[in-house]
Amino acid sequence: MHKKPGGLCTAWKRKDYTFDLCIDFLIGITPHSDVYKLWEELGMVQDREFITPEDFFIQVIDNQGNKFVVYNDPDKLREHMLSFSPEDEKLIKKFTNDIKKFGSADLRVDIGIRDILRMIPVILLFRKYSLPVSEMAAKFKNPVLKNLFQTAFDWHDQSTIFSMMGAAFMGSGSAGYPIGGSIPLARAIEQRYLDIGGEISYNSQVKRILVEKNQATGIELSDGTIERADIVVSAADGHSTIFDWLKGQYTDDQIRGYYENLDLFPPLVIVSLGVDEDYSNKPHRIRFSSKKPIKVGGEEKDYVLLKNHSYDPTMAPEGKTVLTVQMETNFDYWDKLKDNEEEYHAEKKNIGESVINAISELYPDIKDKIEVVDVATPLTFVRYTGNWKGSYEGWLVNEKISLTSEMPQTLPRLFNFYMAGQWVSPGGGLYGAATSARKAVKIICKNEKKRFKTTKP
Ligand SMILES: Cc1cc2nc3c(=O)[nH]c(=O)nc-3n(C[C@H](O)[C@H](O)[C@H](O)COP(=O)(O)OP(=O)(O)OC[C@H]3O[C@@H](n4cnc5c(N)ncnc54)[C@H](O)[C@@H]3O)c2cc1C
Repeated sequence: MHKKPGGLCTAWKRKDYTFDLCIDFLIGITPHSDVYKLWEELGMVQDREFITPEDFFIQVIDNQGNKFVVYNDPDKLREHMLSFSPEDEKLIKKFTNDIKKFGSADLRVDIGIRDILRMIPVILLFRKYSLPVSEMAAKFKNPVLKNLFQTAFDWHDQSTIFSMMGAAFMGSGSAGYPIGGSIPLARAIEQRYLDIGGEISYNSQVKRILVEKNQATGIELSDGTIERADIVVSAADGHSTIFDWLKGQYTDDQIRGYYENLDLFPPLVIVSLGVDEDYSNKPHRIRFSSKKPIKVGGEEKDYVLLKNHSYDPTMAPEGKTVLTVQMETNFDYWDKLKDNEEEYHAEKKNIGESVINAISELYPDIKDKIEVVDVATPLTFVRYTGNWKGSYEGWLVNEKISLTSEMPQTLPRLFNFYMAGQWVSPGGGLYGAATSARKAVKIICKNEKKRFKTTKP
């Protein structure tokens, strides 16, 4: 649909600055890992530099000025947590030991019986930490640590396991940030696909999936072009695929239930700033409570999540910095603004200004040094990626669905049709997109009675 590859895994340039939307960390970056082989097959990790600074996950400052750093090293994290709350020693030790256990587990791509047996201890940890972060935080006796833990690990009120895994994989070195950011990852996959004979049509928006006698036979584009196909795989937005392009004719209670009952990664407003100042000695990612709340989409935000991209020298010219602030928001508010350009732009301007005011509480001199301000809204996400209600990662992982839940990748009664991507992979992410695509090919091979084989078995 867009003019370049990547979907949500994207970035854009404003003057000399690159504003990266997606990649905080990629999992499976150590060569012995099963996931690494998958990235290699996709051409994504070869010759790429990954970094994992020790405080990369997050730092939090509460409104009393207490600073909590989620260190990658679980031993260092344990000592840091104990410094807030010796009375929580037992729980802190358990939690940081479990982080270590997670970190040493290798996520498997093709899971056989032997893998399942080997992974039982990890599967038990998945169960143990499927509780919401708020419930996990409530277990700490010390009120300061309780609040800091909640603020650091909470990610849209998902199961604790979701954030814990990120911290664990960064701690063990099996997750890291790729220098260059999102676009080089997407371009690398594009190149690999072209090299093996794939063809890509950019600027081509699907409007309908063609079906004859319950067989998918191709697609129709918004300009009326018809493309015939033996097999159709939709790696695009799940809701559009099922309910618009197939008019909801191939569903059942289970699939309808997902779209009626599951929770979505919320839409975001992202403010990106190009700043003529070197912030490389400042935290990479910090959540702090601003004195004056930021008003976004009719709601007030009292915590600001500020990312400092100076760990990647390709994002800004030397001595300059890209800062981004990410806030969840209400889709309906923005949807109503879509036909009112004036109000839409005024709202974006207000948000930009109040975010800058909030950051000035941390970095007082920043105002005069800002060279570029860019505000992306849920409508931006929809315009470029078509994702339902602007969701940025598909389904949230909580008590309704877990990271290990399998979602169907075919639709009832429809043949020669498959789905891949974040809408069939709870928790989304690049790992979910890639593994679900691989699984779609496996199902195709089975249906076509062909052996599934890869260059990296
Ligand atoms: C702020 C942010 C931070 C993130 N951080 C991370 C991270 O650190 N690590 C990580 O692994 N993941 C991260 N993600 C998530 C990750 O980017 C997504 O989960 C992943 O890119 C989803 O890939 P996908 O292919 O399933 O879907 P998408 O990226 O949404 O791709 C769908 C594709 O379908 C195309 N399309 C849609 N509609 C049509 C149509 N009508 N016609 C033709 N084409 C169409 C779109 O153009 C797009 O190319 C982050 C995302 C965001 C926004």
